[in-house]
Amino acid sequence: MRIHTQSRFNDAGAPAIATLHVCPRCACELVQPVAWEQTASDRCLLRLECPNCRWSAHGSYDRRQVDRLEQQLEDGFARMLEDLRRLKQANTADRVERFTAALQADLILPEDF
Ligand SMILES: [Zn+2]
Repeated sequence: MRIHTQSRFNDAGAPAIATLHVCPRCACELVQPVAWEQTASDRCLLRLECPNCRWSAHGSYDRRQVDRLEQQLEDGFARMLEDLRRLKQANTADRVERFTAALQADLILPEDF
């Protein structure tokens, strides 16, 4: 008797659909496709790689799986841009605060420019 269990991996040893962007070795959520090839009308061969621990796997995925991974990548990119924007704002605010403090302390002179 064969017992079916839910696996994180498909037959090719690659992660299953819901977790393509999650590394099965270190749980990093930044797994990315580093190579891909369209094999049939609705299938893609992907080589996935974790930038954290260098885990990688090959797998064949249908359009729905690839679309979901693309959405995860786009969401991650949007979050990274938002973090970058906030960091830039924080750095700018810090510079303005230090410049204001230096002006008030008469530490900035005309010859500084
Ligand atoms: Zn990893």
